[in-house]
Amino acid sequence: MSIYEEFWSSKPLKLPPRSRLFCLKPMGVGTCYTESLSSYVNRLAQEHCLTSQKLIMAEIAPLILKNEDKSDLLKKSVSHLLGNTDAKPVINGMREMTGELVRVLEQLTMRQDLRFLTLLSWKGMIYDRQLFKNYRAWCPCCLEEWKGEKKVIYEPLLWSFKDVEVCLLHKQRLIEECPHCNARLPVFARLSPVGFCSRCRGWLGDKKEEMEEVEPHRVNIEGIGDLIAVTPKMAYKPIPIELTRKLEVILLAFEEACGKDITLLGDLGVIMEQMRIATKQHQNKPYHLVKLVIPVCEKANIRVSELLLLNFKALSDRVFENLELGMRL
Ligand SMILES: [Zn+2]
Ligand SMILES: [Zn+2]
Repeated sequence: MSIYEEFWSSKPLKLPPRSRLFCLKPMGVGTCYTESLSSYVNRLAQEHCLTSQKLIMAEIAPLILKNEDKSDLLKKSVSHLLGNTDAKPVINGMREMTGELVRVLEQLTMRQDLRFLTLLSWKGMIYDRQLFKNYRAWCPCCLEEWKGEKKVIYEPLLWSFKDVEVCLLHKQRLIEECPHCNARLPVFARLSPVGFCSRCRGWLGDKKEEMEEVEPHRVNIEGIGDLIAVTPKMAYKPIPIELTRKLEVILLAFEEACGKDITLLGDLGVIMEQMRIATKQHQNKPYHLVKLVIPVCEKANIRVSELLLLNFKALSDRVFENLELGMRL
């Protein structure tokens, strides 16, 4: 056999299917620093040397608004697709348009992990009203550090939650106003390079300021981070009724722990009582993450990820053990 026969084949090459847009890898999936969907769209636009508006209106919108003329869409703003400005901050959440954006983006990039950049997996389980900030927020030290270490600059989903006001790593308050032009920055803007102001194009990173007292924020921030990190680890789509059953067994454990008088638990006792009534009336009612799920986990001495990941038996054993109740289910 000659060298040519050995290395050259006359058969046509089988090329794997190509994606329409770059198969850009989202940052931090599976950690509490998972990138937000809005940050991903902005980075994807940068990779294609397009404005975010052009990427959204030219490539994404035609696959969502199928009946509208493509050339007409190009002249319109992102608000035409995402609705009024109030709806934009929740685009990282679990609304219908979030699902549409994820579906189309996964189709265009041929990725299957973009839903983890949102809270879509928790639809029907976590209450999403008032969950997100109205504007972008960032830790200037994180941005400055990533830039100094030549790491990818992105905005974690964690920063977009209303109850995340500080960075636990740098003990700094998250910033919501551009230090150069004092503008509050929308989650989506026409041109929104990650790490820069969408209005004056100033760099948003900065050196450490005076340390903030972060301990009062720690429980909520770690709880939210835990929910974000655990999302891709769920082997199946979470089922709301399972969360209800788990919360009910924790309620039972609390009742046992304080001799059936849950008022001894203070605020949490009141919340548990409300939850008990609510779950009886509406089996699929979503729960408030910060006012209910996180404080319940803290009181039961379990992580949010344990509440969601452990099976019913393992979870109840753990809670009874933590509360020093000699009970088994
Ligand atoms: Zn930071
Ligand atoms: Zn600015």
